[in-house]
Amino acid sequence: MSDVDYCVVGAGFAGLTAALRLKQAGRSVALLEARDRIGGRTFTVTRDDGSWIDRGGAWIGPGQDRIYAMMDEFGVPEYKQHNDGDAMMIVDGKKHRYGGTIPWSMSAWAVTNLGIGLMSIEKMCKTIPGEAPWEAKRAAEWDRISLGEWIENNTMSKAAREMLDMAIAGVYTSAGSETSLLWALTQMGSGGGPTFVISGKGGAQDARPVGGMGAVYRSIAAELGDALHLSRPVRQITQDGDGVTVAADGLTVRARRAIVAIPLAIASSIVYEPMLPVDRAFLHQRMPGGAVIKISIIYDEPFWRADGLCGQSAAPGSPATLTIDACTNTADPGIMCVITEGPAARRLTRMDEADRKAAVIGELVDRFGAKANAPLEFHEQNWTTERYSGGGMISHAPTGVLTEFGYTLREPCGRVHWAGTESSAVMCGWIDGAIRSGERAAAEVTTADTAAAATTRV
Ligand SMILES: Cc1cc2nc3c(=O)[nH]c(=O)nc-3n(C[C@H](O)[C@H](O)[C@H](O)COP(=O)(O)OP(=O)(O)OC[C@H]3O[C@@H](n4cnc5c(N)ncnc54)[C@H](O)[C@@H]3O)c2cc1C
Repeated sequence: MSDVDYCVVGAGFAGLTAALRLKQAGRSVALLEARDRIGGRTFTVTRDDGSWIDRGGAWIGPGQDRIYAMMDEFGVPEYKQHNDGDAMMIVDGKKHRYGGTIPWSMSAWAVTNLGIGLMSIEKMCKTIPGEAPWEAKRAAEWDRISLGEWIENNTMSKAAREMLDMAIAGVYTSAGSETSLLWALTQMGSGGGPTFVISGKGGAQDARPVGGMGAVYRSIAAELGDALHLSRPVRQITQDGDGVTVAADGLTVRARRAIVAIPLAIASSIVYEPMLPVDRAFLHQRMPGGAVIKISIIYDEPFWRADGLCGQSAAPGSPATLTIDACTNTADPGIMCVITEGPAARRLTRMDEADRKAAVIGELVDRFGAKANAPLEFHEQNWTTERYSGGGMISHAPTGVLTEFGYTLREPCGRVHWAGTESSAVMCGWIDGAIRSGERAAAEVTTADTAAAATTRV
């Protein structure tokens, strides 16, 4: 039995941040992580030549002040995403090359529909109060329908519908019919709206840390030292009047309070004793993850750049739904990233490895030419089958969940407090949101104890 002030469960960015801030405030802390590595839904692999692959979360953008502050704290610089050249959109088998964010060579009808769709979503996002989306004027109406249904009813062009479905519903790595419209507006709104979500320059894919996300999370872990315990999946949290007992494989920790910083999709894998209040327990049952595969393909150079292409391409429903240039700051070697989401990712998951690789490379050859057929390495990370993530990229709310159970997202249950990107009112779903949630939870536990101590003195 180890005795500390606070026990944090899960060493993704949320848990790492909570533990770091508590330690910096002079509190003793134990951070228990189920995997034999830290980083959670971020996972950086450094290659022998010093280049790196981010197998999970990678990009950052303006407004994400807390990840930037963390990078400053540990001296990790950023580098800008390569955006020079045309992007490509493949709709109904036809390729459209374009600059900027709108593929103007699509029919005027499709482009107008797409533009109106994005503008309407942007407008709706602005009406959502981030801290309490269930209090939005049209919350009940928007939580009754799925994002897919809204797209279907508000987009008359089939091409625009497919593009919106991929760009917006794709974020939740599920079919549009699985996600509540209110949740999508809340999540996108927490970052400033759909234009931010889908943009490179000035948007969510504006930059990356030099060395990848690992350069940041490894620095936090170094400061935490022996407070971090790997390969300790937490099985049970028992709370009583004085504190909590957190039971993990091979280690039991006694603390005043616990911060649980694991994805909502798997939060019910821990036994809480006594049972959690019904609404919180039901929230855990109702926030599933999605399906996403991120593939990093190494070439000897980023050959697409010489053809005037930036590397970004999108093909709704294809085995390579999205591609993006994922080179390091030196552009050596060439790294192409493929992200396949939702139903397409589940189809890929059902294939055997060789067929999956052939399907993805075939798509790249079609888009970027024969040179795509000569990869040096092919790294795939299937988040769909990661036990300790419960899918990716984030847990999402189906219809009816936010208005009924959303209020429990951040509300502590006695001595058990909650962190994790899904609990952040700002930049929810991003790494920045995870950091914010960790800082909020760290402040929450110390404030609760200070208040309790004051009451005892009185
Ligand atoms: C493919 C992909 C691409 C993404 N791209 C981006 C991007 O470009 N930019 C961006 O900002 N965000 C991106 N994201 C989202 C981002 O990665 C997440 O928002 C963020 O990493 C979540 O951090 P977290 O700490 O809340 O949760 P997690 O990172 O999931 O951390 C939770 C931790 O808890 C551990 N755990 C689980 N169960 C237990 C248990 N019982 N006991 C102990 N430990 C447990 C897990 O192993 C994990 O380490 C992406 C995600 C994916 C999957």
